Amino acid sequence: MSVARNFLAIKSELDSVVRERITLVAVTKNHGVEQMREAIDAGATDIGENRIQEAADKFPALDRPVTRHLIGHLQTNKVKPAVKLFDLIQSVDSIHLATALDKAAAAIGKVQDVLIQVNAAREPQKSGVQLENLDALIKFTDAADNLNLRGLMMIAPNLPDAEQCRPLFRQMRLLFDELRPARAGFDYLSMGMTHDYKIAVEEGANVVRIGTAIFGERFYT
Ligand SMILES: *Cc1c(COP(=O)(O)O)cnc(C)c1O
Repeated sequence: MSVARNFLAIKSELDSVVRERITLVAVTKNHGVEQMREAIDAGATDIGENRIQEAADKFPALDRPVTRHLIGHLQTNKVKPAVKLFDLIQSVDSIHLATALDKAAAAIGKVQDVLIQVNAAREPQKSGVQLENLDALIKFTDAADNLNLRGLMMIAPNLPDAEQCRPLFRQMRLLFDELRPARAGFDYLSMGMTHDYKIAVEEGANVVRIGTAIFGERFYT
């Protein structure tokens, strides 16, 4: 299957959801510029990368405007390139990082759209804010002049049966619905990847991040 056909199959599946519009982020990490272009030619409007350097290498080859998402963990020492490269930073998970991003965005006169990444499953090795620290982080981002909080992001545990993550997706949707009314522009709930996006969407995700199902397996060298 070609990239274009894979992309279009998932896109039409998501477009058939009547509840709300679902944003499909094509995750191009570890794939070349050619594949990225193929997806964009097929209609991809949103591209996701997880590393700053890789994005810096590939984004200059974009010849059409697309929305660029940072979906990987961001280190404080890379906030300067991050605010230049990305339209939406999905991985804000600490006040420390949010402070640095706010400052870097201010320095280039930008209001940076961000999502807060929640470690809903409490996986020790994963990034994401712990639930008990979420309120304080939201309070900080709400007050930050150069950050615009657009919603929440979650990476579900990689379990053999994605069905097991359903309660976690549901819990995130409830949290999202609780926070949303008080915040203008708080519109995105980003959860679901190749192996679990169908369940994530059933449970209320409105942004999915899909790599493998569009581009095939990634090979790390
Ligand atoms: C790599 C990655 C994805 C895409 O994963 P696939 O299983 O290839 O669809 C989604 N979200 C994040 C945060 C990722 O790092």
